[in-house]
Amino acid sequence: MRVPILIPNIFNHPFTYETNLKLSVGDYVQVPFGKGKATGVVWDEFEKNKNKNYKIKQVIKKFQIPSLNKNTINFLNWFSEYNMVPKGMALKLVLLSSQAVEKLPKKNYVNFNAKIKTNNFYLTLQQKENLKKMDSTNQNFRVHVLQGVTGSGKTIVYFESFKKILDKGFQGLILLPEIGLTGQFEKKFTEFFGFKPAIWHSGITKKNKEIIWSGIVNKKINAVIGARSSLFLPFKKLGLIIVDEEHDQSYKQDEGVIYNARDMAVSRASFENIPINLVTAVPSIETFDNIKKGKYASSNLLERYQNASLPNYEIVNLNKTKLEPQSWLSNEIINKVKLHLEKKDQVLFFLNRRGFSPNALCKKCLKSYSCPNCSINLVYHKNKEILLCHYCGHKSQLYRNCKDNQACDFIFCGPGVERISEEVKRKFPTKKISIFSSDTMNKKNSSEILKKIVNNEIQILVGTQLISKGFHFPNLNCIVVVDIDLTSQGHDLRGTEKNLQLYHQLAGRAGRTGKPATVYFQTYNLNKNMIDDITNSNPNIFLEKELILRKSNNLPPFQRFISLIITGSDEKKIIKESTRFKNFIEKFINAKVLGPVNAPIFRLKKKFRVRLLVRGKKSINVQNSLARVILKFKFLHGIKLTVDVDPINFN
Ligand SMILES: [Zn+2]
Ligand SMILES: [Zn+2]
Repeated sequence: MRVPILIPNIFNHPFTYETNLKLSVGDYVQVPFGKGKATGVVWDEFEKNKNKNYKIKQVIKKFQIPSLNKNTINFLNWFSEYNMVPKGMALKLVLLSSQAVEKLPKKNYVNFNAKIKTNNFYLTLQQKENLKKMDSTNQNFRVHVLQGVTGSGKTIVYFESFKKILDKGFQGLILLPEIGLTGQFEKKFTEFFGFKPAIWHSGITKKNKEIIWSGIVNKKINAVIGARSSLFLPFKKLGLIIVDEEHDQSYKQDEGVIYNARDMAVSRASFENIPINLVTAVPSIETFDNIKKGKYASSNLLERYQNASLPNYEIVNLNKTKLEPQSWLSNEIINKVKLHLEKKDQVLFFLNRRGFSPNALCKKCLKSYSCPNCSINLVYHKNKEILLCHYCGHKSQLYRNCKDNQACDFIFCGPGVERISEEVKRKFPTKKISIFSSDTMNKKNSSEILKKIVNNEIQILVGTQLISKGFHFPNLNCIVVVDIDLTSQGHDLRGTEKNLQLYHQLAGRAGRTGKPATVYFQTYNLNKNMIDDITNSNPNIFLEKELILRKSNNLPPFQRFISLIITGSDEKKIIKESTRFKNFIEKFINAKVLGPVNAPIFRLKKKFRVRLLVRGKKSINVQNSLARVILKFKFLHGIKLTVDVDPINFN
């Protein structure tokens, strides 16, 4: 008998093998491939091109594990078509490693199923009503958006819903955007459910991954909390997916296989014919549009838990005050912060820039430090005493010879969190201050710092946007936005939406336990309407306006965008090639092709980058016709094409 076997590599089709084994679609098998062996899955259709002349090899063996569900295979086929990713690469997201399939650890899963004492959680009337509405249509595929102000107890509502599904014997998946710091979440989960969930993200050990993977395949593990990649776990009986913080841009995988995990979660749920809940304080513009069109159901939590009120907002006009040299905090702000500290409030200074300064400049030769691999300045990190490229990781020492053969004499332009933290230390020398960024909150010590913050042992935080992501700090009642920058970058159509999300989430960290809280915005740019929209407790007002704007400009979600990024190390060659490519594809597809333009970061990791933007109807035909024409085009040697369907970043 002949069988089609899909192998996890760059091919878009299965390979044909011969076998005497009894095999069905979804079975995991080992086959000879090239000079070695490969683990593959029996696929649902043969390669279409039948004229190939090669020797058909024999399947080596079948792995004795439950097969991949037909629904999951349908999902992967669709995923591959939608995202213009080879089918083999889609399968690669499912298969962990051949070891995981071959040598399933015979461990039991005690760690994940051990009963721990549960606490009682009571739902408010509002929470109960939301739960009822959400669960009323749980039989088949449907999308429900649970919208609720920050601190309204959305988690408990969807935990209840999740519990019902588990009790019925199904598996469930909760997707989170920022999985490196899930300690607080895991604790809450365990307190609620009385057992530990399986945690899945890129940072967990290979051995743990193998245990979890096999636990899911064999249905020994039922509850998974994971990052994007957990969406591709081979669940046997998936009953519910929850996407928390559905608006979060980190659901977009920007490298390797490019996809949006939020959108793909919705389609996986549709292929599995199960319900999915999207949870957020401020829906993404796409989700908001789907609610308005009636494609998604929704419910609302309008009040904060324990009657806590949302923070107040105050704007500090920096045009009216004179800042001291090398200072970014006005006297007005310092005085207000003093009052908060006297009341034992925790204070956060927010600036979305890691390190000490984004630009080290020599006073004599006026040269900045730029990255040798990327067209971008290196950021000075004073604590580590290095200059660092935030894109490629290049490191450099702060020492350079100047034109007079003496050392360069550096000054620093602009602050990062380290520099603000120094200023805060000067102003409040007796307080305990901590920086909260991806540099300080690494996996090793983050839980300890988090504990200190929760216990108010740290009085002042200086943080980047990492702090806006779902943390619960009971004493945080004062937030100072050091410089609210509302000049949305010209190349980013989502600039204003990103700002709305960021400041809503950030403000949501404050005043969570009932004490009055205030968010202060320092700014030179008094765009009153913009600040009003961002601080309005009803974010839908802003989203309505934004939708109208997007519609009149033919932008997503009303049109489909596909980014085509052409990269190579020869600057002249890629510019020429991208024009040739554009002229070629334009004839064959029913969509506009804009560009080529140099990417805002023209050189990245030693490669020059040029962008084309395909703009067309929201129909899979756009992807299909584009995929066909790309296959026909031969790029010159050394040039690579990356396809990004529904792009979020345009840098
Ligand atoms: Zn770089
Ligand atoms: Zn110099």
